[in-house]
Amino acid sequence: MIVIKSKDEIEIMAEAAMVAAKMLRDLPGFIKPGISTKDIDKWVEDYIRSSGQKPGFKGYGGFPACACVSVNEEVVHGIPSKKRILQEGDIVSVDLGTIHKGFYSDAARTYPVGKISETNAKLIRVCEESFFEGLKFCKKGYRVGDISAAVQAHVEANGFSVIRDYTGHGVGRDMHEDPAVPNYGKAGHGPKLVPGMVIAVEPMIAVGDYDVEVLSNNWTAVTVDGSYASHYENTVVITEDEPILLTCIDRDGYRLAE
Ligand code: MG
Repeated sequence: MIVIKSKDEIEIMAEAAMVAAKMLRDLPGFIKPGISTKDIDKWVEDYIRSSGQKPGFKGYGGFPACACVSVNEEVVHGIPSKKRILQEGDIVSVDLGTIHKGFYSDAARTYPVGKISETNAKLIRVCEESFFEGLKFCKKGYRVGDISAAVQAHVEANGFSVIRDYTGHGVGRDMHEDPAVPNYGKAGHGPKLVPGMVIAVEPMIAVGDYDVEVLSNNWTAVTVDGSYASHYENTVVITEDEPILLTCIDRDGYRLAE
């Protein structure tokens, strides 16, 4: 069942999302070689708690941390660890969210650690671009499949693959609501987008094949072929006209909630 949000509810979600947006904007100033993925989690937890909101991920489905921190071939759901030290040339995805007055925010970015290879820089760039290709269809009258097809086309045109096993989703009083928003699919198919829908659009892409497996910690998904992966996510509101990017203040030119 797709839950349509009222104007008041969207305002609360915008407050939740602003904290996520600021973290994703500020994280590049913190991420550098030599820190651990646990350091990132601590930074995120402190940031959320000092904002007066609550971490959306901690305890969600039993997840043990405030952020999913996934390095290199890890696609999503990396568990922060003191032992995982970031090295020059790594790429690190940080997926985080907050809860505010009963509503979730959910967003992710992939960051370079120091100087990275050209391929990895392209991987990060194409993943972000594919989100914005999908965003063109986050409008009343289009269908979820239009978003999916746009994301997939951009990723594959650049020689990368789209992860199949994880999808975007509705966001609201639950972090994961209907509809599922796959990053591959057929234009013209799937649920129709209507004003008041709030969805997380989150391309996850890999340099090599899209097959993933989950590690023995029962969380961390890695590419089977060991190729590097990137993740980019925003919580998006469908409106009567242009979509609102609730979790994005690190990119100009898009409509944000005031
Ligand atoms: Mg998500």
